Amino acid sequence: MPNTIYVCGKCGQTARDTQKQLRSEGWLVERKRDAPKGELVIRCQDCRTVHSERLAKDIDPAPIFDLDYIEKQLAEAEPYTSPGADDPVRSVFVGTVFSLYPSRKYYVPFACSNVSEVEAEEDEAWRAQAEAELDTIDAWLESGEGDPCDLFVTRWDVPNQENVPQDRGGVSCDM
Ligand SMILES: [Zn+2]
Repeated sequence: MPNTIYVCGKCGQTARDTQKQLRSEGWLVERKRDAPKGELVIRCQDCRTVHSERLAKDIDPAPIFDLDYIEKQLAEAEPYTSPGADDPVRSVFVGTVFSLYPSRKYYVPFACSNVSEVEAEEDEAWRAQAEAELDTIDAWLESGEGDPCDLFVTRWDVPNQENVPQDRGGVSCDM
């Protein structure tokens, strides 16, 4: 009988079994991404979600955005220049914090008492993946100026040299 007790990080359910056995029962027992001490992310069958899988080092997370669709939307969006900004951007509304964030909660870093540590961790992993995905199309995630719960994908209207990777720079005329 194995002596290690595994505790679901979300509901606290415990199981005394081998990792292999737990995995075969649908538990998530994986090494955590960016955890130098080999910390584990553990979720029971009921609490295992795509959001918790995003915390695991060896699981390829499902994509958050349909980047082709977002690129199309960005191409159709009207460019605008924010007050105080030098260059125009294009922006598309992608949803609210409540629809997109794993915790479905809005909070600010200095007052996160309404969000559990587990939720904050999953939100952070979501945010990191969202930013990495958008970075591949030179875009970023922004909160709405009117309502900070609204989330927009934004990018420069005319990308400058710095934010266009060489392989996406288009056709050059001087051969
Ligand atoms: Zn659980």
